[in-house]
Amino acid sequence: IQVTIDQLSTISLLGHGTSGVVTKMKHKPTGFEMAVKQMSISGIEEENKRILTDVDVIAKSNNCKNIVKCLGYTISESDVWIFMELMLSSFDELLTLNNGPIPENIIGKLSVSILSALNYLKEKHNMMHRDIKPSNILIDENGEIKLCDFGISGRLVNSKAFSKNTIGNFGSAGYTAPERIQQTSDYDVRADIWSFGISLIELANGEYPYKNCKFEFEILSAIIDHDPPELKGDHFSDMFKSFIKSCLQKDFRKRPKYNTLLSHEFIKHYEEAQVDVKGWLYELLKKKERSEPKKSEGKCSESN
Ligand code: ADP
Ligand code: MG
Repeated sequence: IQVTIDQLSTISLLGHGTSGVVTKMKHKPTGFEMAVKQMSISGIEEENKRILTDVDVIAKSNNCKNIVKCLGYTISESDVWIFMELMLSSFDELLTLNNGPIPENIIGKLSVSILSALNYLKEKHNMMHRDIKPSNILIDENGEIKLCDFGISGRLVNSKAFSKNTIGNFGSAGYTAPERIQQTSDYDVRADIWSFGISLIELANGEYPYKNCKFEFEILSAIIDHDPPELKGDHFSDMFKSFIKSCLQKDFRKRPKYNTLLSHEFIKHYEEAQVDVKGWLYELLKKKERSEPKKSEGKCSESN
């Protein structure tokens, strides 16, 4: 669709993170609602690069059903607007609403979707995401789960990533793979697999694994010095435990890549299994309606 900025009216705030604000907007001529990510172009080259990478990756990934769709974008001297399909919620928001463990079968479906998005990025664009965490995993009104936020995704050269300046990204420390903290060598897609594993643990336990750390350096040293976080409780299936264990091998050389993970029993099982993700989602969102009966302000998350 052809969209100009003056044709848009703001409905509510959807979220904000490191690079910009995401607003629910209506395209007045058609009544069509969408999510608009606005980012200001600053004098800082690093930030501008981040914005342009985000636009570039999302715009060329429209044929991956597990990546949030880009409907168009505009770039002016002062800012960039990305028009996206409207998603209903993000997994950090759902975690807060849920206030406890997210069921394994929902995590199974999420894993199938997010692994397929990550594998697409690698195979089609030779890129890795570098910021996998629940706030970058979104869900739409049909219960479809998709990846977003490509601001710090990076191109791979001979399958390796080199940029070292992307840690310290706000709110992302706990998802950083040990090899990226140590910076003794370059790293590859397996750093995303670690972050993905941490995200799954957080969803499955219903709490952030490093919630007791006050400072970022405590988190980073816990990642390096301690065993990887574990699933709490014994209600998890063996295939899920084994999947998490593979994602969270501290030595990245032992951590599998996508081809191995995609043929893991856990993924194979949830590719086929019938799971009512939509039904689960609507049950959960009812809680939101109960807790904020009149307000339709959307969320304003503190972390991205
Ligand atoms: P940042 O780079 O600032 O983290 P994101 O692209 O992750 O930006 O967006 C920030 C937040 O906005 C997300 O965590 C999510 O809650 C919300 N959001 C982003 N894209 C959409 C979308 N297409 N539909 C609905 N909400 C979205
Ligand atoms: Mg984000």
